[in-house]
Amino acid sequence: MEGYGSAIYWLETAPEVPNPPLTADIKADVCVVGGGFTGLWTSYELKSADPAMKLVLIEGDEIAHGASGRNGGFAMTLLDMSLHHFVKNVGADAAKAAHKAVAESVEAIGRVCDEREIDCDYTHGGLLVVATNPAQQVRIEKDLEAAEELGLRDFKALTGDEAQGLVHSPTYQAGMLEEHCAVLNPAKLARGLKRVLAEMAVEIYEGSPATGLEEVSQGVKVSTPLGSVTADQTVLATNAWASRLPALSRKIVPLYTYIILTEPLSDEQMDSIGWAGRHGIEDKRNYVHYYRLTADNRILWGGSDGVIYRDLGIKPRYDRNDAIFAKLEKTFKTTFPQLSEVGFSHRWGGPVAMTVRFIPVFGTLDGDRVHYGCGYNGHGVAPSHTGGRILSDLVLERDRGYGDLCFVNSKELAFPKNPVSWIGAELTRKALLKQDRAMDSGKDAGDMDPPLLRLMSKLG
Ligand SMILES: Cc1cc2nc3c(=O)[nH]c(=O)nc-3n(C[C@H](O)[C@H](O)[C@H](O)COP(=O)(O)OP(=O)(O)OC[C@H]3O[C@@H](n4cnc5c(N)ncnc54)[C@H](O)[C@@H]3O)c2cc1C
Repeated sequence: MEGYGSAIYWLETAPEVPNPPLTADIKADVCVVGGGFTGLWTSYELKSADPAMKLVLIEGDEIAHGASGRNGGFAMTLLDMSLHHFVKNVGADAAKAAHKAVAESVEAIGRVCDEREIDCDYTHGGLLVVATNPAQQVRIEKDLEAAEELGLRDFKALTGDEAQGLVHSPTYQAGMLEEHCAVLNPAKLARGLKRVLAEMAVEIYEGSPATGLEEVSQGVKVSTPLGSVTADQTVLATNAWASRLPALSRKIVPLYTYIILTEPLSDEQMDSIGWAGRHGIEDKRNYVHYYRLTADNRILWGGSDGVIYRDLGIKPRYDRNDAIFAKLEKTFKTTFPQLSEVGFSHRWGGPVAMTVRFIPVFGTLDGDRVHYGCGYNGHGVAPSHTGGRILSDLVLERDRGYGDLCFVNSKELAFPKNPVSWIGAELTRKALLKQDRAMDSGKDAGDMDPPLLRLMSKLG
């Protein structure tokens, strides 16, 4: 697997010696492919249910190499582009069930961290959603109406003054507080889970990319460069890298999102922005800005434009994008003019998996032995915990209701083959960015269903 540079702040805070690669042909009950949150939580759920199970996890690079070691660390309920778009997309009952399952995951992650002594700076401050223009305000109102319709009690409307009272940015025109959100250090969580899984006797091999997958008489054989695992059942948890697996390649498209991180703020700088609640914050653009404080009082500032590279590839050089870093610095300074002198110490990016319908996809491939879960559209920190529950239930043929969630074994829409796939995804991305700009200049009402997106869903 390719390397990814050293700019990722989270990985610096959670140094770890990778386990040796797989160098033999071994057997297992279950083989999990991919050492991000989906693979880690699936392994955790499986071993918790059946401690005697022989479970092997193979990771192509090292644990937390992918999005799970690079993200903003928001464990939140968001699925799809917004709550009201989700309701429109899947219907009220399905949206409510999925929202509740992921909200429970936000809490469950905190509980596991407490019980298993994983110190990942889990801070349950809720999510502050802010509108920086009237169209975004309408989106907040629609989310609040959707929450009301679903009978969800965990959303609260805020006026512009109230939002600015919580966090001192002159750009806030309205807001909404959602209770179920925690911010955490994702690399510490992933590597803490690695330690816990080792204690549960999960065999973890790093530097062991799956290079082949074939059904054999004893199950499924997963090949790696120096060995293989033959297992009764296999779970594919490679998210954006699913684009490289023939069986999953058309379910998702890799989209890059980027982050910049400030130097630690001084006490005076902290006073100038308020933010005592240490909420995660997002605005209501299509391509959101997401931002939060770290444990050492830096501001992590991410989002703005996502990028889909023409080859739909995942490459180390895509981890940096100077044009996006410059845009991020600009919007940071507009949001917090009082911090215009603050310097930035880290800049990085990573691939997320985008699906046609903007919701994840989980299921079982023909043959019943290979299960998959991917496509969180950049919101997988808490949903991947729900994903671990879904995937473990698929493996164990257990019914806890997770198999009924709307993104499990559902009617999935496939991306066409490249280059049509890139062209379609790129046209969608551009339409969404154009709408973001039009909303800023008051020329678009912010309806979250631009015609091109509707067309893509139909074509998909
Ligand atoms: C910059 C950024 C910011 C984000 N911010 C947030 C946020 O604040 N909140 C939120 O909810 N979500 C966020 N996300 C999305 C979130 O990180 C992901 O949805 C989530 O981590 C997905 O977890 P995963 O385990 O499915 O995938 P990944 O973490 O990507 O893990 C996949 C793993 O599979 C491995 N792999 C790939 N191919 C193979 C192979 N052939 N064999 C073996 N292993 C293989 C990879 O090395 C990788 O470790 C962000 C993502 C990025 C990139």
